[in-house]
Amino acid sequence: MSKHIPRKRFGQHFLTDHDVINAIVHAIRPRSGDTVVEIGPGLGALTRPLLEHLPHLHLVELDRDIIARLQRAYPSERVTIHAGDALLFEFGTLGENLRIVGNLPYNISTPLLFHLADFAPHIADMHFMLQKEVVDRMAADPGTRDFGRLTVMLQYRFSIETLFDVAADAFDPPPKVVSAVVRLVPRAASDMDALDLGLLENVVATAFGQRRKTLRNTLGSLLSADDFNQLDIDPTRRAETLAVADFVRIANHIYRKEAP
Ligand code: SAH
Repeated sequence: MSKHIPRKRFGQHFLTDHDVINAIVHAIRPRSGDTVVEIGPGLGALTRPLLEHLPHLHLVELDRDIIARLQRAYPSERVTIHAGDALLFEFGTLGENLRIVGNLPYNISTPLLFHLADFAPHIADMHFMLQKEVVDRMAADPGTRDFGRLTVMLQYRFSIETLFDVAADAFDPPPKVVSAVVRLVPRAASDMDALDLGLLENVVATAFGQRRKTLRNTLGSLLSADDFNQLDIDPTRRAETLAVADFVRIANHIYRKEAP
């Protein structure tokens, strides 16, 4: 087979470091009964070792050249190839308790994480390689610079654990950034349930739209002084100082207020 030339527009950085590959597979701990979905298998750096533990894998891949290689490399009873864009893929069609993994294309990581969040009820866990800067935002604590819209919308659905960092020289070609492996496990439905998810998304996007401004400024059209009072939230605070549960309380307060 001729050598594949990595395509920049598909965010192609292929893992070549065997210690890193083993560490990722070890973190995933694949079991033979698992329904595992790999996003962006590329030349199979993770696919091949995963198939040592699993009778079958679902693969979601966009690059036609790579898809042709995957079809030649693996028998169809071992892999189901879903040719297309992971950003549009309906992960829910693959069933329940999905274990989603991948060394993700970094150029689409944020929209892809938002897309995957929609399928949280179908997901058992997810393990991803991402640029470290994004992992830091995903796992951020309130009151830090990294805490933002991505943090709140992901932590609302998942508990997030940073596993380990990966240096650029573990890839070919090396990316310009340091990477990290992260685990996401859906949270149990709880006290923190938004009554209207769209409203929560709207509140979070609005509050972080101008993150230097106070909540009175950003959320003033949604919350009166009296609302802030009832919520026991100081309107002179900024969005990045709130806990994830505070955003849920705010969205639910607005929901109840607007309910007929
Ligand atoms: N897992 C491989 C490849 C990682 S590179 C390894 O670790 O070596 C990222 C992979 O995602 C590439 O195979 C690229 O073609 C694929 N990809 C890029 N954009 C995609 C998209 N929108 N949907 C699905 N796959 C995509």
